Amino acid sequence: MHSIPILSTPCANAPDDPQAGKPCPGCTSHGSGKAKHAHGTSTCQSRGASPAPIQFDARLLGRYDVNGPRYTSYPTALQFRDDFGASDYARAAAQSKRTGKPISLYLHVPFCDTVCFYCACTKIVTNNRAHADAYVARLHTEIARQASLLGAGRTLAQMHWGGGTPTFLSLEQIASLIDAIDRQFVMVHDDSAEYSIEIDPRSAGPASIRALRALGFNRLSIGVQDFDPRVQEAIHRVQPRALVEATLEAARECGFKSVNFDLIYGLPHQTTASFSNTLDAVIEMAPERLSVFSYAHLPQQFKMQRCLPDSLPDGPQKLALLQTIIARLTDAGYVYIGMDHFARPDDELALAQAAGTLHRNFQGYSTRADCDLVGVGMSAIGRIGDSYAQNAKTLKAYYEAIDAGALAIARGVQLDEDDHVRRDVISRLMCHMSLDFGAVGQAHGIDFVSYFADELGELVDLADDGLVAVDAQGLRVLPAGRLLVRVVAQVFDRYRRSAANARCAKVM
Ligand code: SF4
Repeated sequence: MHSIPILSTPCANAPDDPQAGKPCPGCTSHGSGKAKHAHGTSTCQSRGASPAPIQFDARLLGRYDVNGPRYTSYPTALQFRDDFGASDYARAAAQSKRTGKPISLYLHVPFCDTVCFYCACTKIVTNNRAHADAYVARLHTEIARQASLLGAGRTLAQMHWGGGTPTFLSLEQIASLIDAIDRQFVMVHDDSAEYSIEIDPRSAGPASIRALRALGFNRLSIGVQDFDPRVQEAIHRVQPRALVEATLEAARECGFKSVNFDLIYGLPHQTTASFSNTLDAVIEMAPERLSVFSYAHLPQQFKMQRCLPDSLPDGPQKLALLQTIIARLTDAGYVYIGMDHFARPDDELALAQAAGTLHRNFQGYSTRADCDLVGVGMSAIGRIGDSYAQNAKTLKAYYEAIDAGALAIARGVQLDEDDHVRRDVISRLMCHMSLDFGAVGQAHGIDFVSYFADELGELVDLADDGLVAVDAQGLRVLPAGRLLVRVVAQVFDRYRRSAANARCAKVM
């Protein structure tokens, strides 16, 4: 719901970033040497200091505005293979079961009762609530099957409900699913775990917010996009400021620990002046986190985008919007985390980045350790052990698989040793804007400089342009390179020249 990535495809089912919430959103292998991968070491460990501030350089942003993934996983979903199936998943799950480690769960609800014209998600637009009954029944079955494979009784360290619109389900349906999840896994009820849900303030009022809190959710993500009524009309998502304020107020009153607003720039009628007004309102409301996505207009791919008026900001206007966003939010005290994300300095995300414990997963940035992720529902992606797996992407295929007594795994990928090393490198870059060559080498049993000799050669141009600084010990993303960190990460992506990667949107 509401997540449009800088990549262009928001939400759960976009090419590279299916459930990134945000935004949905290869390459030719070069230099894939041998590595001794260390499981569980692919999380971000920084060299300590917080990343440098952002320097906005329109000339560089224009020059490096290439197609590229968002790296909520590596390899990205673009590299998932159809020959990865249920038996591969079962093998990975058995391995995970033996660890008994805490897990993370992503639950996908694909339905929306109205369509936003900018949307690039895989969703089902319907007013027929009977769909929810059929879907929830399959989710119950899938949750039980997943638990029997992964081992019931494992602690649920993190949970995210995304879509579509999770609040398309009734509160009773949501409660029944929470009950099932709590019976199969162990939910932590002292708020030390992170349980989040994307909500649509048009369908989830204050009473729903209080009920969700009582069910154990402690984080909310609200799709706001823009408060300008003219923009809201144009995108077919009319939700006045008062509605969002009432939702936020209810969330604060009943103890939600963190609220995220999604905003989108690049929509019809937006100007720096009009979006400044939206930012005034946002800053006044002071959500703990903000995701600010760049709208990518791909009407050939997403036909509802053809309903938008022609008055879209052009490239330079979008850059001006981005510059305004960064200046206004950082002036207001928000910390730029990376990619599209900002957080208040006392929010866990900003604290984790400063402490070097930030992680990256399908929901974007996270404070939780990189535990195995179970994906439940149509098109959901999981990450279990050394593999990623995605469920069937149509309701029909998902129902048929579940009704046949199986899981609905449709595709996935098994990581090899080189993938492990590169996943770690890319994750460190995305989270901490730096690499310590010695630390990566030690974690994977490689000599970083010889393993990545080709890549280090390719970084020379980026260093000459002031995006990165490289010395014998490591690499730092410089202020002018922070908005282009995906370009730096891409250098280490062995699949980046694959045909599939051409489907990614531009990094800016
Ligand atoms: S149509 Fe649904 S999934 Fe798409 S942005 Fe709107 S609420 Fe989110």
